[in-house]
Amino acid sequence: VADLLPRTGTWLRCQLHAHTTNSDGEATPKGLCDHYARAGFDVLAITDHWRVTSHEHDRIVVIPSSELSARCDTPVLESEVLALGVAVLPEVRDHFESTEALAAWIRSEGGAPYLCHPYWSGLGAAHYTSAPSLVGMEIFNAGCEIENGNGYATAHWDTVIQTGSLPFGIATDDCHRIGQDSRHGWTWVAADERSGAAVIAALLAGRAYASTGPELHAIELDGAQVEVRCSPARSVRMRSGPWDGCSVHADPFLYPTRGRITARAADGTITGARFDLPRLWRWGRIEVEDAHGRRAWSNPFPLPGEPPATAYFAGGPRHG
Ligand SMILES: [Zn+2]
Repeated sequence: VADLLPRTGTWLRCQLHAHTTNSDGEATPKGLCDHYARAGFDVLAITDHWRVTSHEHDRIVVIPSSELSARCDTPVLESEVLALGVAVLPEVRDHFESTEALAAWIRSEGGAPYLCHPYWSGLGAAHYTSAPSLVGMEIFNAGCEIENGNGYATAHWDTVIQTGSLPFGIATDDCHRIGQDSRHGWTWVAADERSGAAVIAALLAGRAYASTGPELHAIELDGAQVEVRCSPARSVRMRSGPWDGCSVHADPFLYPTRGRITARAADGTITGARFDLPRLWRWGRIEVEDAHGRRAWSNPFPLPGEPPATAYFAGGPRHG
C-alpha cells in the first residue's frame, strides 16, 4: 500500500493569497493576521502586489511573499504568479519578460511559484507549460469566483496534466476585504514543523491539498485500487483524463462509476470509498464534495500500469 496523501508531518491550514493596505486590500497587516488567526488558520502568506509585507504575529506564521506579474500573451498582456517565501524583490518593479522568467527567478530565490487564477487571467494550458519552473497553480480563487465566477480552474489543471506534467493545486481567498472574500478557500500543507520554511518546502514537494471545506484523511494505492477516507461527503471522485475517471455518490439515484462506498457517516454521507484504476490514463486526483457543494482536491498522482494499446490513445501521456 502506497500513500498518495502525505501521512507524516503536521497538517497546517494555510492562506496563501491575501492583500493588505500595502497594495489593494482593505485590512492592515495586523488586521489581516488577526482575522486569519481568529478564523483558525496556522499560516498566512501576505501577497501584496510587488511588495513584501512582513508582520510578526504570535498566533499565526506569516510567510514573506508577494504577487508578481510577467508579460504574457493574454487579453491584458500579463500573467500573475505568487512568489511564496521570497522576502526580497528586484529593484525594478516592472513586469518580468515572461512567466517562465518570473517563475525561474522565484525558484532561484528559494520560493514556490504558483500561477494565479488561470481562468480569470485568460490563460490556457500552453501558458502554463511554457513556464516549467512553475510548481503549480491556483485551482480555486475565492475572490475571482465572487467577482465574476471565474474562480475554478480545475479544467485548466486537467488540460495541463494531460500534456504530461503533474502541477500542484492550491485553493486561496485572494482576500481584499476581510469577512467578505475571506475564509472561502485554503490549502492544507503537511509540513515537517510549524515554520514558513517547512511550509515552502512542502509546497515545492506537493505535500498539500486544496479545500473550500472538506478534509482528506487518507489516499492509498492498494494494488490496482485507490482507497480514500475523508470528512462526510455527498460525492467522492477520482478524476482522470477524458472519457475516464471514477465516482461514488451518497444519493442512491446517482450511479457509481468504477467505485464503491466503503464507509458512511450516520446520516449516510460518504467517509470512505474505493476506486478501480482509470481505464485509459495513468494519473488520477481525488475530489471530495460535501453536502453544501464545497470541495477538497488532492494533488494529481501517477498510477501504475500501461494504458491500453489502442491506436486512439497510444500517443497520450503515461505518467508511469
Ligand atoms: Zn491577488
